[in-house]
Amino acid sequence: MSIISDVIDLAARAKKQADELAGIELKETIAELRGKLLDLKEEILALREENTDLKAEKAKLALPAEVVKKDGLCYKADGNGPYCTHCYETRGDLISVVEFPKNVQRLAGKWRCPSCTTKYA
Ligand SMILES: [Zn+2]
Repeated sequence: MSIISDVIDLAARAKKQADELAGIELKETIAELRGKLLDLKEEILALREENTDLKAEKAKLALPAEVVKKDGLCYKADGNGPYCTHCYETRGDLISVVEFPKNVQRLAGKWRCPSCTTKYA
């Protein structure tokens, strides 16, 4: 904020100099200019705050690391997974699927999503 503070200080100096030298109209213009600069400073501070909030919101919404599909299931690019493809494609959620016990896999499938109950072979 130092640039805008410097500009406001310069406007104050210009007003002081104008008070000593210039006519009433110039004094009024410089005083008005100074007021507008103070408004501008407030607006910049508000915009900075909004920008910080929006950045935080954007970071929250950002998709997780790249996701790849393999054999119908989703995996992170770093190999973590598998995750439910249905949950990822409908809501963007990475839900770890649960492996069925070996003795029921032939009938039930190999994986089941604990959130949406989709089964994967
Ligand atoms: Zn699911």
